[in-house]
Amino acid sequence: MNLLFIGPPGAGKGTQAGRVADRLGIPHISTGDMFRQHASNGTELGRRVDVIMKAGDYVPDEITVAMLAERIAEPDADGGFILDGFPRTLVQVEALDGLIGTDGLDAVIVFDVDVDELTSRLLARGRADDSEDTIRNRFDVYQSQTAPLLDIYGERGVVSRVNGLGELNDVTNRILDSLGQVRDAKDSAEPRARS
Ligand code: ADP
Repeated sequence: MNLLFIGPPGAGKGTQAGRVADRLGIPHISTGDMFRQHASNGTELGRRVDVIMKAGDYVPDEITVAMLAERIAEPDADGGFILDGFPRTLVQVEALDGLIGTDGLDAVIVFDVDVDELTSRLLARGRADDSEDTIRNRFDVYQSQTAPLLDIYGERGVVSRVNGLGELNDVTNRILDSLGQVRDAKDSAEPRARS
C-alpha cells in the first residue's frame, strides 16, 4: 500500500507515519528526516539544506525530488511505503506522478489540527528549526505551497481527513480505520479493476 501523510508542521504526522508504517510493515519515508540526517552527517547536501531548514523554507524541488526518487527505488519500498513530507509542492506532485503514476497512491491521510495547539506542540518539541519566527514561516509556507495539494488529491478521491488531536494510540487507530474506508470505497468504485 502506498500512502501519503499531509499535515501542517507539528500535526504529529511524522510520529503517526512511523507507527502506521510499523503496523503495516512498510517503510516510513520522511524527507525531513532524510535532510536532517544529511545535515548531521555534515555532507555537502547537508550543509546546504541546514541553512534552508533553519529558516523554515523549502529545499529546492530538484534536490528533494532526486533524493526521494532514489529512496523509493530501494528494495524495501517494493511492497509499499508511507510518504511523510513529500510531495509538498505542485512540482513535487508531478514528479511523484511520473514515478508511481497518477493512481499510485492508495490513500492520502490529511491531519486536522488546531493552529494554537500546533504552535505549543512545536515550541515544546524544541527542534533546531522550532523557533517562533521559523514556526510562523513554516505555517505560511504550508498554507501557500502545500495546502493546494489537497485539492489535487481530493479530486482523485483518495483523501481521508483525520483528527490529529488526542491519545497517540487513538489517532493511530483513526488512521487505520480510515484506511479501511478508503480501501473499501476504492474497491467498490472500481469493481472491474480486480480479477
Ligand atoms: P515539519 O512537518 O515539522 O515541517 P519536516 O521534518 O517534514 O517537518 O520538514 C522539516 C524541513 O525539511 C522543512 O521545513 C523543509 O525545510 C525541509 N523539507 C522536508 N520535506 C521537504 C520537501 N518535500 N520539499 C522541500 N523541503 C522539504
